[in-house]
Amino acid sequence: MATGDSREGRATAREPSPADKPPATVRLGAPTFGPEELARVAAVLESGWVAGQGPVGAELEAAFSARVGAKHTIAVSNCTAALHLCLLALRVGPGDEVIVADYTFPATGHAVLFVRAEPVFVDVRRDTFTLDVERVAAAVTPRTRGIIAVDAFGCPADYAELEALAAERGLFLLEDAAAGAGATYRGRAAGRFGRASCFSLHGRKGITSGEGGLVTTDDDAVAAQVRAQSAFGIESAFTRQARGELTIPSFTSIGYNYKLSDVQAALAIVQLGRLDGLLARRRAVAARYRELLSDVEELTLPVVPDDRQSAWQSYVVHVAAPLERDRLALALRERGVQANFGTYASHLLPVYGARPACPVSAELFRRQLAIPMHANLEPEELLRVARELREAVAAERRRTRA
Ligand SMILES: *Cc1c(COP(=O)(O)O)cnc(C)c1O
Repeated sequence: MATGDSREGRATAREPSPADKPPATVRLGAPTFGPEELARVAAVLESGWVAGQGPVGAELEAAFSARVGAKHTIAVSNCTAALHLCLLALRVGPGDEVIVADYTFPATGHAVLFVRAEPVFVDVRRDTFTLDVERVAAAVTPRTRGIIAVDAFGCPADYAELEALAAERGLFLLEDAAAGAGATYRGRAAGRFGRASCFSLHGRKGITSGEGGLVTTDDDAVAAQVRAQSAFGIESAFTRQARGELTIPSFTSIGYNYKLSDVQAALAIVQLGRLDGLLARRRAVAARYRELLSDVEELTLPVVPDDRQSAWQSYVVHVAAPLERDRLALALRERGVQANFGTYASHLLPVYGARPACPVSAELFRRQLAIPMHANLEPEELLRVARELREAVAAERRRTRA
């Protein structure tokens, strides 16, 4: 992004001279890779073990457990698979209800459908976009088995209250920490809440291996079940081979192929080593947006409560009526700044059928605007995003008042 050309880089320039190239689009999200990732991947390719759950996968699991402070980490193919495996390990099935945070990527609700249980979507807090604990309590029925809380865009949910409620009602709690790597809540790391936590290493998350997922848990039985079911219900080929005997596995139960390849694990190890640096950049972006945008009347910027730290997977602003989020997003795109909606109000998605209303989530789905957030954003780009957003808001304001 840095051009070294002071004219092109000058963020306050209004009229680009014909000699200037049009500035590159400011991307909504982007991974941060460097030569270290290439070197680690090359080493795996040369090693001969490129399949899943090999030595590099084991190294990733140990490093992630150490980082989070969890007893077990199991590397899997993605976070959706991680959620599925956890629900299987907790023996959730037909006739069971699982309370799910409504405002989330539909992987959370889908995982409940995978085991033929019923997702019961519960509304979220207007400020943190995470589960509204009072509404969770009201949604518990005799069929409720557990709760899946989501760290919304990397902001942890109210885990003290959720853990107390789960204990009191005899429910399991799962943390969908897909976007939460590096987040904290009251000094505890994301990955430490409930029976197990599920992380994503998808390209749009804070650390990535392209696709990938991780389960963390302190529960030995859950860990053993998740591991077995991620590899056809048997011990992985690598650990069998490492024992040096000829063991022919017996297939006693159905299992899935949800392994993370060692090629991806190599990427993830290097990314994990960068986590603190990447988080610091994202926090700085959020702080800068606050300086640049907090006085725009129609926009409400995200706030993270003092007892937690977000991983800032996305940066979403709330657009007040009469301005329309969709028009603003399109206007920004035309101005060379990628923008999008936030995430989904699950209860409105046809795949789940008619479900009780979650008005806060429905409003966030309609009114949240995601603007660029990643660790490679340059100061000039942030100025540009702010300028274009201000101008797009001003144009919409004029249009709606006309
Ligand atoms: C991205 C995401 C998922 C899905 O993760 P995958 O690794 O793509 O399966 C699940 N839940 C939330 C909240 C997410 O943001």
